[in-house]
Amino acid sequence: MAQQEDVFKKIVSHCKEYGFVFPSSDIYDGLGAVYDYGQNGVELKNNIKQYWWQSMVLLHENIVGIDAAIFMHPTTWKASGHVDAFNDPLIDNRDSKKRYRADVLIEDQLAKYDDKIQKEIDKAAKRFGDAFDEAQFRATNARVQEYQQKRDALHERFSKALNANDLEELRQIILDEEIVCPISGTRNWTEVRQFNLMFKTEVGSTADGASTIYLRPETAQGIFVNYLNVQKTGRMKLPFGIAQIGKAFRNEIVARQFIFRMREFEQMEMQFFVKPGTELEWFSKWKQTRMAWHQALGFGAENYRFHDHDKLAHYANAATDIEFHMPFGFKEVEGIHSRTNFDLSSHAKYSGKKIEYFDPETNESYTPFVIETSIGVDRMFLSVMCHSYCEEQLPNGETRVVLRLPAALAPVKLAVFPLTKKDGLPEKAQEIIKDLRFHFNCKYEEKDQIGKRYRRMDAIGCPYCVTVDLQTLEDNTVTLRDRDTMEQRRVNIADLRGIIEDQVSITSLLRKIDN
Ligand code: ATP
Repeated sequence: MAQQEDVFKKIVSHCKEYGFVFPSSDIYDGLGAVYDYGQNGVELKNNIKQYWWQSMVLLHENIVGIDAAIFMHPTTWKASGHVDAFNDPLIDNRDSKKRYRADVLIEDQLAKYDDKIQKEIDKAAKRFGDAFDEAQFRATNARVQEYQQKRDALHERFSKALNANDLEELRQIILDEEIVCPISGTRNWTEVRQFNLMFKTEVGSTADGASTIYLRPETAQGIFVNYLNVQKTGRMKLPFGIAQIGKAFRNEIVARQFIFRMREFEQMEMQFFVKPGTELEWFSKWKQTRMAWHQALGFGAENYRFHDHDKLAHYANAATDIEFHMPFGFKEVEGIHSRTNFDLSSHAKYSGKKIEYFDPETNESYTPFVIETSIGVDRMFLSVMCHSYCEEQLPNGETRVVLRLPAALAPVKLAVFPLTKKDGLPEKAQEIIKDLRFHFNCKYEEKDQIGKRYRRMDAIGCPYCVTVDLQTLEDNTVTLRDRDTMEQRRVNIADLRGIIEDQVSITSLLRKIDN
């Protein structure tokens, strides 16, 4: 675990050193849980967004996009339930004065039992080698069974307390499990209290009676309030979806783990409107579709899992998370929820407008049900970074840091180097860039030895480098070097576009998921 934490620290400093992510307002020592994306980060982020957007809007004829405002009529948040119920249960440790989410402390405790079980399994697997039967071991080993029983009992008690919103019971669980504050090491806990996560501000000057409005805590409501507009003007027939990418704001109290939990972040959400009664079928379809989107990046199926929710929101009839294996454990990157007709009905009630769909096939009107897929751009960015960061031992004894980014997401696709700064080599290199920059992102570099330039490009995940030398001036060939294999080959300048373009395009990813 300590080793994993070290790796995570290295990733955070790598993100800063190579222009991916900076603390916000860095010259003033940053602002808690707010970050800025640098010159390479913004490109990677844009590529992630493009991959998502195109997978929704290009590959589905019945999904269209919108871009709603961040400010919304305040009644929106009354109708959505956020004013009354968008709360986190918080607990303080009196000795360290640190504040925690009570549910997260208990979830961490559950993960500890899982870790203990896994350790026993790993030990036994080593001991028994090929003959090891994990299912049998789980069913018969006394220690594993003991941990499993404790875990299951805790899990049941925790779900019950969450569903009943029983804050006292949450506190009691923390005491009974002897959970200590990671900073002070003590069990001196306060009561558990609810805390609303929405940021408030005011529109209009105070003189003319300003009214309180909120910064949206999710983008979804912008889609619900536009359901009628889009359905009517786009003449959409059920089932159909509306996709949106945009900023969301939550006053997260426990802001940890870099860009995993931020106060200002970006979401990519798609609400899919369906006929009532068909929602669970669509829920299961969207689970598969979204998992395929993640797995097309090639990070290995073993690094993803579904985590079904123990506590269903009162309006949901199914919910799951897609979790990714981060250096600090399996963590939620995306939520998929079957939200029934709660949101549309509630907006109909609060606005007094009829929000229904007339079904021409059955000649009846009804409020559509909704399946939502909701993914955080920043968490996705973090998972891509964590999986791609690699320190590699080279045969010559040196180590290199390489970001093995999927080529389609890499900020820079091709770096072009003149071997030296003379003999017309820089001009020739610029000529290549001038020709290729229309097709993908290219970068020119002439400073330092070629080896150093390669390392810098490895560190930002640039999949291809090209070196222009004296031979280039004679026969129009260059050395093309591959980031991952470090192999170099001589190719014709005229062939560069053909070799690189398909590998680095978002289309190459979309093809993998289009079936
Ligand atoms: P968590 O339980 O981690 O607080 P959540 O279940 O409240 O997350 P949702 O409301 O389902 O999250 O939001 C959908 C997605 O938005 C999440 O899967 C995550 O990727 C992203 N997200 C939510 N909160 C944050 C945040 N504070 N910072 C960055 N991304 C976030």
